[in-house]
Amino acid sequence: MSQAVKAQQKPSQNYTYTVSMRCQLCRACACKCPPFCISFVGGRAVIDQSKCTHCGACYDACKFNAIDREEIA
Ligand code: SF4
Ligand code: SF4
Repeated sequence: MSQAVKAQQKPSQNYTYTVSMRCQLCRACACKCPPFCISFVGGRAVIDQSKCTHCGACYDACKFNAIDREEIA
């Protein structure tokens, strides 16, 4: 997804973020995560949802579109 399209969408806090099987273990997301709540387990990144602040930095940092987000109801 392009940065322009991302910019038109709702604030990052309106979404939950999870890592998909598309993860390539590049670790770019973990480097950008302010609360350091991304670890690497079972061949891919994993987000600790109890610590995630929904900032969206990992989603923006992932060049493989491996992070899925779902709008919070
Ligand atoms: S930035 Fe994307 S591909 Fe890289 S480790 Fe994170 S989720 Fe995986
Ligand atoms: S949304 Fe922000 S706090 Fe949550 S895992 Fe991604 S970078 Fe970390």
